[in-house]
Amino acid sequence: MAMLEVKDLNVYYGAIHAIKNISFEVNEGEIITLIGANGAGKTTTLHAVSGLLKPKSGSIHFCGKEITHTDAYKIPKLGLAQVPEGRRVFANMTVMENLEMGAYIRNGKENLNEEYERIFERLPRLKERRKQAAGTLSGGEQQMLAIGRALMADPEILLLDEPSLGLAPLIIQDIFKTLQAIRSEGTTILMVEQNALATLKIADYGYVLELGKISMHGPASQLVRDERLIEAYLGNKK
Ligand code: ATP
Repeated sequence: MAMLEVKDLNVYYGAIHAIKNISFEVNEGEIITLIGANGAGKTTTLHAVSGLLKPKSGSIHFCGKEITHTDAYKIPKLGLAQVPEGRRVFANMTVMENLEMGAYIRNGKENLNEEYERIFERLPRLKERRKQAAGTLSGGEQQMLAIGRALMADPEILLLDEPSLGLAPLIIQDIFKTLQAIRSEGTTILMVEQNALATLKIADYGYVLELGKISMHGPASQLVRDERLIEAYLGNKK
């Protein structure tokens, strides 16, 4: 059984049919990516999984439990943590305070020291900057903080919305290496991305979203060599 199973999902914004009958699976311990251009429906799909948007039809199961109509505030408690598009760190709060907010998402632990240490080991830049206001961090550091904040909830699965957005290639490499390390420590990852090539390099399996539909899917190692995909998405990024 897959950890996350999305089946025949349809999502509308009023009359706009944004997600058209899409199905995909995420197995435990994998990095799965949904790649696609602007407006393909990546964020809409993630928001449906995290309960922020209610699908018109279809189903979403997490660890065998149906969560299609579960309220958004209950989703993190089940073990799904979001890293939203644009990071959304609390700019006026310090790095430590941002991390602390992440811990509240799941049933409160009394002593967070162990949690902080776990995050700082994986994201050492955050330790150096733990007393700094999040708004003064660089874009890459803010992305790391958004990831660290999500990890504070000790999730089963991380849902990331375009973690590479607006970052320089070297910083993207850094972030993607961190994601690989997080996966190797046992956290499953579902990420949506426009940066198809970099993402497929770290993913196990990919789905291509086009105008709200899945147009292609397969092992990432195959997709990265697919002629149609190279022409459409990867051509000038090689
Ligand atoms: P981007 O990379 O630009 O974030 P995306 O792949 O995440 O793109 P979505 O944001 O999911 O795409 O949008 C999918 C479609 O739904 C687009 O056609 C978009 O215009 C439409 N859409 C998104 N949000 C709304 C909304 N609040 N109201 C109406 N239409 C919307």
